[in-house]
Amino acid sequence: MSAIISLVYLISAVMFVVGLKLMSAPRTAVRGNLVGAAGMLLAILVTLLDRGVAGYLFIALGLIAGTVIGASMANQVKMTAMPQLVGLLNGLGGGGSVLVAFSDLVHHTNQPLDTLVAVGLSGLIGAITFWGSLVAYAKLEEWPQFKKPFALPQQQRINLGLLIFDLLLIAILAMSHSMAAQIACYVLIAIVSSLLGIFLVNPIGGADMPVVISLMNSYSGVAGAATGFVLDNNALIISGSLVGASGIILTQIMCKAMNRSLSNVLFGVMAGSGSDSNVDEIYANVRSTSAEDIAMILDGAQRVVIIPGYGMAVAQAQHAVRELSKALEARGASVEYAIHPVAGRMPGHMNVLLAEADVSYDKLKEMDQINPTLDSVDVAIVIGANDVVNPSARLDPKSPIAGMPIIDVDKCRTVIVIKRSLSPGFAGIPNPLFAMPNTLMYFADGQQAVLDIVKAVKEL
Ligand code: NDP
Repeated sequence: MSAIISLVYLISAVMFVVGLKLMSAPRTAVRGNLVGAAGMLLAILVTLLDRGVAGYLFIALGLIAGTVIGASMANQVKMTAMPQLVGLLNGLGGGGSVLVAFSDLVHHTNQPLDTLVAVGLSGLIGAITFWGSLVAYAKLEEWPQFKKPFALPQQQRINLGLLIFDLLLIAILAMSHSMAAQIACYVLIAIVSSLLGIFLVNPIGGADMPVVISLMNSYSGVAGAATGFVLDNNALIISGSLVGASGIILTQIMCKAMNRSLSNVLFGVMAGSGSDSNVDEIYANVRSTSAEDIAMILDGAQRVVIIPGYGMAVAQAQHAVRELSKALEARGASVEYAIHPVAGRMPGHMNVLLAEADVSYDKLKEMDQINPTLDSVDVAIVIGANDVVNPSARLDPKSPIAGMPIIDVDKCRTVIVIKRSLSPGFAGIPNPLFAMPNTLMYFADGQQAVLDIVKAVKEL
């Protein structure tokens, strides 16, 4: 039987790899998801045949409870709260590893050294992932207590001390022969690592959350892989390693998108608060406009670029945005979409929304691709984006987002910004773009604003 189980695990592993490969292109992503999910179903079903399975009743109860809670959460979650849900799920993966490793520890005596080390590592990485993800969740939810980065004095030294203490506890756990001592060590590891998870994520500012979310995703995979060693389960080792590796690749992509190194995000000094000029001064020359005026401006435009951001997700304006593109194209203009890698609240957020509205992929241009061509754009329409078009990143070395590549819309001939007010984006900083001489603000809800512009364009 164990040979059959191993063989099926191998097939599942191949399906995970093929699934990941298919997911790397938008056209094949849905198929990739299905192949990966089928691989996981296969792995779960064959695991049930393992003689080591303790009892089917608890598995069935867990399955029912998990399905009910998971399905209702996924059903109720608003599209804009998806990133928080993803963050929470990463955390639950880590928490699961902590509990499974603990259960293995209390049920087996005289475990070999390598298994005990794996138990300790599951506790360490799992608890960091659980608490780190919860703090990331609170930051994404913009809970006031967590919104501002907060660090204790000498935070990095404290963190290093906690990590060393953790490793020491793992060594004691692995070498100890008494179950009581092992359990005590494990509980301490879980507590110390929980503190470490909170301390690691709390000082990281809102604008760096994309890196944190993808890093926590990677950690949850590594914790799963460590638990795979505890249970001696190859499928868990392989799937955990794949999640760990793909998470770290995503983390690197996010770091590159923000022009930060990972160590700079994790251990760097807390981001500054921008130059000293006050908001009233920055916004002294803001000019607002109306749907009719925008339609007149668009009337003569040959090249239009739409830059979506988080506000498009809040307003659910993606379908209206596509209507606008169609109306402009019908009048002979070319319309493209400029996509910043960290626009929205999760990697690929804008791509998902625009795909839902059937916007063709070849119209979506990545930041690096479109930036050098922006000076030939007649009209840039920024819809619900703020941080990703904030020129302070280029112009203000004291800004928390200094050095982050942005979509350089300020170089376009005319910029129209659609948002409800002058309030800041996720990074909590003012945006001098709004007061630039070539910018016009249209203060309204994203969806309604775009629908009004479509109407005005059609009436031209
Ligand atoms: P921002 O958060 O910078 O700005 C969004 C803007 O949308 C706000 O200024 C808000 O202004 C506006 N808005 C909100 N609701 C509406 C509405 N109904 N209609 C019109 N406008 C609306 O978004 P960006 O996409 O520019 O930047 C993303 C930010 O999120 C970056 O700082 C990034 O680092 C961070 N982040 C990204 C993650 C990712 O993986 N992509 C993960 C976590 C964080 P107003 O209230 O005035 O309408």
